[in-house]
Amino acid sequence: MSDFVRGLKCRLCGKNYPKEPLNFCTEDFGPLEVDYDYDAIRETIHRGKVEMRPFNMWRYKELLPIDGEPTVGPLVGGTPLVKARRLAEELGVESLWIKNDAVNFPTLSFKDRVVSVALSKAVEFGFKTVGCASTGNLANSVAANAAQAGLEAYIFVPSDLESAKIIGTSIYGANVVGVTGTYDQVNRLCTQVAFKYGWGFVNINLRPFYAEGSKSMGFEIAEQLGWRVPRHIVAPMAGGSLIGKIHKAFHELYKVGLIDDPRCKIYGAQATGCNPITDAVKNHREQHRPVRKPNTIAKSLAIGDPADGYFAAKVMRESGGWGEDASDTEIAEAMTLLARTEGIWAETAGGVTLAVTKKLVDQGRIPRDEEIVICITGNGLKTQDAILNLVARPTVIRPSLEEFDAVYQASRCEAAPEIALAGCRA
Ligand SMILES: *Cc1c(COP(=O)(O)O)cnc(C)c1O
Ligand SMILES: [Zn+2]
Repeated sequence: MSDFVRGLKCRLCGKNYPKEPLNFCTEDFGPLEVDYDYDAIRETIHRGKVEMRPFNMWRYKELLPIDGEPTVGPLVGGTPLVKARRLAEELGVESLWIKNDAVNFPTLSFKDRVVSVALSKAVEFGFKTVGCASTGNLANSVAANAAQAGLEAYIFVPSDLESAKIIGTSIYGANVVGVTGTYDQVNRLCTQVAFKYGWGFVNINLRPFYAEGSKSMGFEIAEQLGWRVPRHIVAPMAGGSLIGKIHKAFHELYKVGLIDDPRCKIYGAQATGCNPITDAVKNHREQHRPVRKPNTIAKSLAIGDPADGYFAAKVMRESGGWGEDASDTEIAEAMTLLARTEGIWAETAGGVTLAVTKKLVDQGRIPRDEEIVICITGNGLKTQDAILNLVARPTVIRPSLEEFDAVYQASRCEAAPEIALAGCRA
């Protein structure tokens, strides 16, 4: 497989670099990207070959940058693409799908995709200690996958993170460092730590490899739709990497002959309390303005100065998509809407994505009669506080049938007084 990766390449000037743990071009500080030999891949890959492999992200291994077989996260990916009929009706659209990475293995977010590539790569490079700067889900995934791989992990997070995300990191035996500051400050610290200690930080010196893992979400969506892409796709943005990789995935499938048409309008979603990328798109600016103090319940997306903000805005603009953001109230309401209509409990980032989809449909930016895919990237169990005040409390009764009868009768009367029995008037 290594035959298909030629090395790394600067996304700005195109300068070539060897296959090493590097993330920036020494000429212009442009981010580096994996450089594949697509002609060679096109020669060997075909739909039947992919379809015969187990349904996980590694069935597209020719388009992922590891040598040989994955050593970390061999079972990641292969999440459901759900036809969302009841939600479609609620939004007033004809055809709606949910790519549900809230059930990704092993840590219930799409971050398992990027981490399995980054840590497989870390093992290849010989790192014994790995780490990350994280808004939560990455922390969970690096900790779990490092545990399984027998690697030592140092995880840096903003200290005000949801407790479920901190506990969901410590449980795996990782060294968790809570930093009193924003994600951007955590990230800057990690850059210094990676350099000084020589560790493999998945989203810093391993970032070019890490980022490639996100493409598998796009590959799966296209295959699950029957080897074609949807007309519209809505994805949440933190650092702005995933959205660009979904776009890249569709174009790679086209380049290697697995789909006939890669064109898809791509929409990015952020929280209004931290919206540097959607703000740039809405105001027709090429460069985003960093948000110094993010303030939103969607903590997993709270990156004020996104590394891939420029590229994310470009993908939205050039694909014919758009960017929108949603308030904390809209986010929480969308979380309950998704749960009530489709039985899917997504985290706050999922609320962001659905709330934004609803806005884009209402604004007429996404036509009601064209196919839409929504990317759900994380699990609601991790962000329970967000919906605490929106869900009903249980009715508490004594263990007696009469008490239940009374509760039931009352609820029937509330739901449908016109057809309710005489008991309602009592
Ligand atoms: C990290 C994350 C994202 C966004 O990822 P980027 O590639 O940094 O834009 C989206 N959703 C969830 C739940 C995340 O944890
Ligand atoms: Zn360069």
